[in-house]
Amino acid sequence: MDLKKEILKRRTFAVISHPDAGKTTLTEKLLLFGGAIHVAGAVKSNKIKKTATSDWMEIEKQRGISVATSVMGFDYNDYKINILDTPGHQDFAEDTFRTLTAVDSVIVVVDVAKGVETQTRRLMEVCRMRNTPVMVFVNKLDREGKDPFEILDELEEELQINVRPLSWPIDMGDRFRGVYNIYRNSLDLYKPSKQVVTESVHHDIESPELEEHISADLAGKLRGEVELITEVYPEFNRDEYLAGKLAPVFFGSALNNFGVKELLDCFVEIAPSPRKIEAVERVVEPLEEDFTGFIFKIHANMDPNHRSRLAFVKVCSGKFERNVNYKHVRFNRMMKFSSPTAFMAQKKEILDEAYAGDIVGLPDTGNFKIGDTLTSGEELHFKGLPSFSPEMFKYIENADPLKSKQLQKGVEQLMDEGVAQLFTNQFNGRKIIGTVGQLQFEVIEYRLLHEYGAQCRWQPIQLYKACWIESDDKEQLDDFKKRKYQYMAKDKQGRDVFLAESNYILMMAQQDFKNIRFHFSSEY
Ligand code: GDP
Repeated sequence: MDLKKEILKRRTFAVISHPDAGKTTLTEKLLLFGGAIHVAGAVKSNKIKKTATSDWMEIEKQRGISVATSVMGFDYNDYKINILDTPGHQDFAEDTFRTLTAVDSVIVVVDVAKGVETQTRRLMEVCRMRNTPVMVFVNKLDREGKDPFEILDELEEELQINVRPLSWPIDMGDRFRGVYNIYRNSLDLYKPSKQVVTESVHHDIESPELEEHISADLAGKLRGEVELITEVYPEFNRDEYLAGKLAPVFFGSALNNFGVKELLDCFVEIAPSPRKIEAVERVVEPLEEDFTGFIFKIHANMDPNHRSRLAFVKVCSGKFERNVNYKHVRFNRMMKFSSPTAFMAQKKEILDEAYAGDIVGLPDTGNFKIGDTLTSGEELHFKGLPSFSPEMFKYIENADPLKSKQLQKGVEQLMDEGVAQLFTNQFNGRKIIGTVGQLQFEVIEYRLLHEYGAQCRWQPIQLYKACWIESDDKEQLDDFKKRKYQYMAKDKQGRDVFLAESNYILMMAQQDFKNIRFHFSSEY
C-alpha cells in the first residue's frame, strides 16, 4: 500500500526547448513553487556558452553547474516531482536523448516569437519514438510574437502531434492582459510587476463579469477565440495525452512567473505517474514489489582528484534501498551500495530508499555503462535508447607509445559513459570516433589526458553516415560486406556498421542491395 502510494505520487519529467526559449527560467519558477529554492536566480543555466567552445576548462566549470542541477526533486502538494535537466548545447544532444529515456513525460517550452526551432524538433522526434506524453508551454507572451493560432498550427505541423489549448492568451506584448484558463474556467489576470501574483477569478467564459476585468473589445475577442477553439479542437482527452498523441498547450511568461503555477497545477493532475517500461524479456510495471532500474547517464569528473563517476539510475519498479544487494545483470553479480545519492532540490544527499520514478545516483569506479540494468535478482535487460548515427567522424590514434594501455582503457570507459561512439574498421583495425559535434572531440582529448594520462591524435576521415545494416538474405549481406570490406566496421556491441562516405554512395548501396536494411539508429 505504501509502495503504491509513493509510486503513484511521482512525476518525473524533463523540460526541453531550443536554447533561449526559457527552459532554465521555467525550471526555476517550478522550483520556487515547490519551495525547493527561495529566490529567483538560484538556478544557474547549464547552458554551455558559445564563446566557450574552444575553452574546455570553462566548459568543465559550466558542466559542474549542470551536475548540481541535473536532477531536481521536490515535493509539491501531494506530489513528488523529479525534474531532469538536459544540456542545452547541441553537441551534447545524445546526453539529452538518453535523459529522455528516464522521464515519464516532458514539458516543451516554445518562444512565442520564434515558434518551433530545430532543437525542439529533434527532441520531439525522440519523444515520439517512445510515445512520451508532451505538454507545451508557449513562453514570453509579455513580448510581441506570432499569432497564437499560428503557433498552434506550427506545433501540430512541426512536432507532428495534435494539440489542444488549455489556456488562451489575452493579447500579448505590452498589451498582454493574461490568459483565460480553459482547464479551470478562470480568468487569470497578468499584472506586470516583478512580484507577480496572479489574480485568478473564476468566471465562465460567457459571464458578463468578464468585462469588469478586461475591456469589452478584448472580452468579445476572447469569447470568439475560445469558441473557435472549441469548434476546431476536440475536447481535451487525457488518454490521448498519456498515449503521446495529444499535447495540451499553455501560454504564459516564465520570466514574469505568469501561467507557471497554472501549468504546474494542471501538470501534476494529468501527467503520468511512472509508466510501464518494456524490457527485452517482458514489460515491467512500476508497482511491482521487486526493484528494477537502469543506468541512463554517467557523470564523470565530479572530483578531479579522483576518477570518480556518478551513475544515474532510473528506478523502474518497486523500491530501491541502501545497503541491499542488487544484481548487476551484465556482470551477473550482486552488489550493494552504501552511499546512494538522492537529488532533493539542488542538494545531493544520501538516501535510504527510493521508489519507482525516482533517480538515484550511485558512486561508481567503472562498473557501469549506459544501459546497464539492476534488479533484485531477475535476469532482465532494459532496452535504453538506441545510438544514432553520428554527424562527425575522426580516426583516433595513440600519440604516446608508452601509454597505449591507458589510451585503450580511457577510450573504453568514455564510450561506456556515452561520451561518443566507437567504431572499429574491420579492414585495417583502425578506431573511429563518431560524435554529434566538435566539442565532444575536445572533451575526449582533454579527459584522456587528465584522467587517464593518455594522449591521442585525431586523423581526418571523410564519412557521411554510419549505418547499422541487417538482412534476412544472408547471401546478399555477405556479398555486400565483401564488396564494401574497406568500409565495414563493428560498433562496441559487435554489430555490423557500414561507413558511407557520401549520401550518393549510400543511396547507390541502398539501390543495389535491396534486401539489406540500412538503419540510422542502432535499434531496429
Ligand atoms: P534556456 O536557454 O531555454 O534555458 O533559456 P533561459 O531560461 O536561459 O532564457 C533565455 C532568455 O530569455 C533569458 O534572458 C531570459 O531572461 C529570457 N526569458 C525567459 N522567459 C521569458 C519571458 O517570459 N519573457 C521575456 N521577455 N523573456 C524571457
